[in-house]
Amino acid sequence: MSTDQTTSKNDLLFARAQQSTPGGVNSPVRAFRSVGGTPRFITRAEGPYFWDADGKRYIDYIGSWGPAIVGHAHPQVVKAVQDAAANGLSFGAPTQGEIEIAEEICRLVPSIEQVRLVSSGTEATMSALRLARGATGRDKIVKFEGCYHGHADSLLVKAGSGLLTFGNPTSSGVPEDFVKHTLVLDYNNIPQLEDAFESMGDTIACVIVEPVAGNMNLIRATPEFLQRMRELCTEHGAVLIFDEVMCGFRVGLGGAQEMYGITPDLTALGKVIGGGLPVAAFGGRAELMQKMAPIGPVYQAGTLSGNPVAVAAGMTTLKLVQEPGFYERLGAAAQRLVQGLSDAAREADIPFCGDAVGGMFGFYFSNNVPSTYGQMMAGDKERFNRFFHGMLDEGVYFAPAMFEAGFVSGQHTDAVIDETIEAARRVFKRIG
Ligand code: PMP
Repeated sequence: MSTDQTTSKNDLLFARAQQSTPGGVNSPVRAFRSVGGTPRFITRAEGPYFWDADGKRYIDYIGSWGPAIVGHAHPQVVKAVQDAAANGLSFGAPTQGEIEIAEEICRLVPSIEQVRLVSSGTEATMSALRLARGATGRDKIVKFEGCYHGHADSLLVKAGSGLLTFGNPTSSGVPEDFVKHTLVLDYNNIPQLEDAFESMGDTIACVIVEPVAGNMNLIRATPEFLQRMRELCTEHGAVLIFDEVMCGFRVGLGGAQEMYGITPDLTALGKVIGGGLPVAAFGGRAELMQKMAPIGPVYQAGTLSGNPVAVAAGMTTLKLVQEPGFYERLGAAAQRLVQGLSDAAREADIPFCGDAVGGMFGFYFSNNVPSTYGQMMAGDKERFNRFFHGMLDEGVYFAPAMFEAGFVSGQHTDAVIDETIEAARRVFKRIG
């Protein structure tokens, strides 16, 4: 069922939102700028679904961009939040719940000996960067084109996600003086990384990387790339930061670092560890983390850091993902989806392929799975946009830009995936 554009409540809400909020949204990718059309205003969500202001149901493949890993409004998460809220929303003083989630994160991600909770992925990477610079006494950082690490000034250089959508490699308002310390290299390019370390290795404070990139669609790092990065950082005394805000507890229980068997010095986490409420974290070797205030010289703080209600949602989510077989089911769902979409596209003779790592997936309107930013950008954007809108009409909500990864939850059953594939079969025929 396609909504009547003249009476759609989404249209009315979007027009109204644009009066009070720039672009009508509180985070750019939500605005449908890349795909065109009216963003859907969501009224409620449950399991693998959400509903828009017109009452239309969608199978949701963004899951709040990662956090909704156990499905929306999971009864146990909702109950934990209600129980915590009844005891007060925020204290600005420590709680036992913060210790428990910190211990759980340290137990599940062994490279994290100590952890500090913050409220967004942006804060997590920004603070990890400051710590790396504070610990090494160096200014330069290395990042990779197409990796998005949140919107801290130093990291808004050739970043992915919404910035790719806008064809805006950086942001205005970021002083040249800040970004002159940020060296941007190609993802999966080992010789270039080696050259960088050879020429300036002893001035590099850190390398920050999404070990499974999810902000330039889905692109896996090659094991050799990450291995060489680890060696070069160790050799030159630079801090290796894995930004696992997206892939942590998403590609598997121990994150990408467990999957690749590579130990970073610091890790940024977010999304899943808050279960849909604002919790993120950075952590790593105790010797590094001991440099944080109040015991060390690197400052960082937050009024709502470790918020008791958010921590309750996060902790319950972390328990749920540890139920036996959870990641096997999650991975199987993502595989079934990309396989089914690929088969349906082939039947319609459309160049298409897909990839999935754990509960994260990407699909590309090209013949081969990309391994670089350039290859990903070469995909057929117009066809993606037609596919996106066709699926939206069919009641399937994929990320509204070709540059984003997708997510399944523990509630995306075979029946839900198969319904998606049937819809895709119809849409591929129409857009072929
Ligand atoms: N790092 C990565 C890898 C991310 O995907 C994101 C957000 N999508 C961030 C950092 C920033 O997190 P937040 O939006 O919570 O600030």
